[in-house]
Amino acid sequence: MSENIFITEAEITGDADADGPLAGRTVAVKDNISTEGVRTTCGSRMLEDYVPPYDATVVSRLKDAGATIVGKTNMDEFGMGTTTETSYFGAMENPAAPGRVPGGSSGGSAAAVAAGDADLALGSDTGGSVRCPAAFCGVVGIKPTYGLVSRYGLVAYANSLEQIGPFGQTVEETAELLDVIAGPDDRDATTREPPEDSNSSYADAADGDVDGLSIGVPTELLEGADEGVVETFWDALADLEDQGAEYHEVSLPSVEHAVEAYYVIAMSEASSNLARFDGVRYGNSGGYEGNWNDAFGRAREEGFGDEVKRRILLGTYALSAGYHDKYYKKAQDARAWVKQDFDQALSDADVLASPTMPVPPFELGESLDDPMQMYLADANTVPVNLADLPAVSVPAGETDGLPVGLQLVGPAFGERQVVRAASALE
Ligand code: GLN
Repeated sequence: MSENIFITEAEITGDADADGPLAGRTVAVKDNISTEGVRTTCGSRMLEDYVPPYDATVVSRLKDAGATIVGKTNMDEFGMGTTTETSYFGAMENPAAPGRVPGGSSGGSAAAVAAGDADLALGSDTGGSVRCPAAFCGVVGIKPTYGLVSRYGLVAYANSLEQIGPFGQTVEETAELLDVIAGPDDRDATTREPPEDSNSSYADAADGDVDGLSIGVPTELLEGADEGVVETFWDALADLEDQGAEYHEVSLPSVEHAVEAYYVIAMSEASSNLARFDGVRYGNSGGYEGNWNDAFGRAREEGFGDEVKRRILLGTYALSAGYHDKYYKKAQDARAWVKQDFDQALSDADVLASPTMPVPPFELGESLDDPMQMYLADANTVPVNLADLPAVSVPAGETDGLPVGLQLVGPAFGERQVVRAASALE
């Protein structure tokens, strides 16, 4: 099954001289990140034959840094999922946990690194899609502060929430890839220059020095989590404490509403972003002729899978005239509250720590018929996207032989803080 790590294998190199920071390194790229001349499917039948005429900014930066891209990785269709099972190209197995899912939606990217098919990888994280597969596959993943990495050429799912993020075997290597892709881009007006003191090398921050570090542990993010996961989490915290860090419990009352708010916002944005896939502007037309509305409907009926259709329908409903204030506006209010809670908790802690996922990797097929079970698994990751903050998932150990990830969240543009703290666990 592991051949399904890549949707398209291709060797893509730039003409950079051989001494760029990523010279000699291989990178796998999620298949929703545009690569000029190499098809970019988003894991969807709709884009099965779509070949972008330009590179995403992050891809140009990889080429300039001397990296070799080895292929485009499997993913949940348009990033909608937590297991990589909604891919039109088929599910795939977790290389670190046979019979289990690799997590999602960037499952192929995390698996490529875990299986040694690439040194590094890029994914995208709308509500956890870098951190979840990193945790499930036992590798490192970083979700950058909103605005640190250009989204130009990333096929949008929920653009106010998502960032492209790196995967690697170690915190330092992962941060090296972040160094290459981070920074303002004229082609994405939501990018910005990080404050002066926070933008020196992220890789340099991976020095393992947590002496005097103050860690807040949000109690809400431990509630309802699997016992073995929680045990592994506390062992990792004890390890940090032994190295001179201090921890205290904090409360984030708003996160109780984060999953609802996230799914209303993500589905609303998705319903709008995916309107362009009508077989005329983008996507397979299916060859239908005649009445335009009819052809449009049939192309979308055939091109999209069930999870994507479910989200377009719910998102369209949440944005409709009579319900906008009841759902979308409420969700935006909840988002503001989540941001406030994080700001407050981070006013007397350097970083916040929790399990990345409340559960170990699902068995293949286990969560497919129950979307609610899948959505609730995102409880610890989506609040971070609602708050626009940076976070890392770092391997914390195992429960019953299954990888457990620890999530560290920092203040906006506090990537160096989370990188430093995570490196102490290696
Ligand atoms: N599991 C979440 C979702 O399905 C997150 C996905 C992501 O970050 N792209 O929306």
